[in-house]
Amino acid sequence: MKLYKNHSMKEHSNMKIGGTAKEFIEIENKNELLDVLKEKENRFIIGNGTNTLIFDGELDTTFISLKAIDYIDDKGEGIVEVGAGLDFSDLIDYMAEKNYTGLENLAGIPGSVGGLVFMNGGAHGTEIFDKIISVEIVDENNELRKIEKENLKFSYRVTEIKEKKWVVVSATFKFENGYLSEVVEKYKLKRSENHPLNEPNLGSTFKNPEGYFSARLIIEAGLQGKKVGGAQISMVHPNFVVNKGDAKFKDIIDIIEEVKAGVKNKTGIQLEEEIIIVRN
Ligand SMILES: Cc1cc2nc3c(=O)[nH]c(=O)nc-3n(C[C@H](O)[C@H](O)[C@H](O)COP(=O)(O)OP(=O)(O)OC[C@H]3O[C@@H](n4cnc5c(N)ncnc54)[C@H](O)[C@@H]3O)c2cc1C
Repeated sequence: MKLYKNHSMKEHSNMKIGGTAKEFIEIENKNELLDVLKEKENRFIIGNGTNTLIFDGELDTTFISLKAIDYIDDKGEGIVEVGAGLDFSDLIDYMAEKNYTGLENLAGIPGSVGGLVFMNGGAHGTEIFDKIISVEIVDENNELRKIEKENLKFSYRVTEIKEKKWVVVSATFKFENGYLSEVVEKYKLKRSENHPLNEPNLGSTFKNPEGYFSARLIIEAGLQGKKVGGAQISMVHPNFVVNKGDAKFKDIIDIIEEVKAGVKNKTGIQLEEEIIIVRN
């Protein structure tokens, strides 16, 4: 385990905003995780930080990283247990190597496996839970438990794990054979064309309300390109907020609130954040 005091969080969020955390702990194995979770109450599990906006002042929080829990344990017959800290892109590479299919539509999502499982991340009609058979979590009683998928509640960008603030330690997938490299290439290319990948961002800021696309609602409300301080509603993808270089935490919060108010005013629809916000 590695512990850093007064740790800068700026590089731990893909928005490149973040203040000084009281502590930052890199966990190296499951037992360490159980010990740390027992001890630290004001804590936040940080994955790749691709969906998390972090307050830019002093943070009285212990951030816990599971990046080192990044194993891949292939149990045969397409059953693969993966550590929560693994980069999702490494899982896609592994699928290519083993000719496994099932999650190609998600290629290019920059999160960790734990982050994707936490919120049932997905894209193009596929969600990570489509291929999961069980997850290993630490629950509210600090117990390490394996839960079969059928005993877990999850839906669009929501899971019981998120609702109960459990920690994802690993996920077990069941893949069929027949990796679709052309699907991976197609969606990676699409992302490079349709997402503002050269500016700090957190992906989709708002969930899509049922029957609508947030991006379309933002355009209809005339908000694409809107700026608040160093934050802007992306010209490339209106559901993305980008940091133009010097954005403050407050700029991002203010632009989110303005978009919610503008869309509500114009369409009557209440947008809800998909991104996770860490305040003090
Ligand atoms: C350019 C871009 C494109 C994106 N495209 C998509 C997309 O198509 N589909 C999609 O669903 N998302 C997308 N995202 C958002 C993001 O990549 C996903 O939500 C991803 O799942 C977040 O993973 P992370 O490791 O970065 O999580 P973080 O941002 O580090 O954390 C997000 C949340 O997950 C929790 N968390 C992380 N790891 C664990 C764990 N082990 N146990 C418990 N909780 C944990 C954190 O506490 C936090 O609440 C995109 C983001 C970007 C920047």
